[in-house]
Amino acid sequence: MIDLHLHTTASDGRSGPGALVAEASAAGCRTIAVTDHDTVAGVAAVREAASAAGLAFVSGIEMTAVAEGVDVHILGYFLDVTDPALATFLRAQRQRRRDRVAAMGDRLRAAGAPVDVDQILAVPEDSGRSVGRPAVAQALIVAGHATDVSDAFARYLSEGRPGYLTRGGPTPADVIAMLRAAGGVSSVAHPGKLRRDHLIGPMVAAGLDAIEVYHSDHSVADVVRYQAMVDHHGVMVTGGSDYHGPGSGRTEGLGLVGLPPVAFDRLADYASRRR
Ligand code: AMP
Ligand code: ZN
Ligand code: FE
Ligand code: FE
Repeated sequence: MIDLHLHTTASDGRSGPGALVAEASAAGCRTIAVTDHDTVAGVAAVREAASAAGLAFVSGIEMTAVAEGVDVHILGYFLDVTDPALATFLRAQRQRRRDRVAAMGDRLRAAGAPVDVDQILAVPEDSGRSVGRPAVAQALIVAGHATDVSDAFARYLSEGRPGYLTRGGPTPADVIAMLRAAGGVSSVAHPGKLRRDHLIGPMVAAGLDAIEVYHSDHSVADVVRYQAMVDHHGVMVTGGSDYHGPGSGRTEGLGLVGLPPVAFDRLADYASRRR
């Protein structure tokens, strides 16, 4: 299995680098990419663990852009994780995340569901770890305001709920350009969850390299639909499980959802010819 969408404790995954590699390997993965939200802090350690376990490894990230007021997740692969401009860009992304968590704490207090956001924000900025709503969901559970993560999202954290706050951030075109400048290729993540297909054409025009056709939340109809878009636009295919570790509620695709070898070879070849 080739899984190009995995999270670690560098963002909202539950597994550290060693555990992630062990879990992916046990599930039958032979090539992996780590794609944490707005950070590459986990990449070096996962690369080492993967190499020790005999797995092929691709550097990756899942960056957050905003279009029409909604979050657009853009995956990056084969990027130079030491690129200084990328580091600056990601620091700003993570600072926006911290500001948003703090403001969500204010909103939740006003809504009668106070939580300890200081504990979330105690993660040192220079650790490169990113914070986000799943951590707030956990704090809501600890404070007794929610029974589990999906309950916390449904009642407090989803769009339109009292703890929700619109996000500011770069456009998809900005993120695509940043990934390219860092030597990477870009792919729009889980378009079947995004459900804004009209954004894909403009993103391709802005330099989008690929579409994530294979994803745990994609139905067979989604796969057919986005493969057709790939063919129409002449772009690459990516895929992965979006595994977030044991207890995350997002484990089901590991070892079952991934990228066909032919598509991976094409992607790797495309990325190397671009450099
Ligand atoms: P953020 O990046 O802070 O906006 O948080 C978004 C992340 O929360 C997503 O990447 C998912 O991992 C997670 N998430 C979003 N909606 C839900 C939900 N309804 N249930 C559980 N997790 C969710
Ligand atoms: Zn996540
Ligand atoms: Fe995502
Ligand atoms: Fe993800």
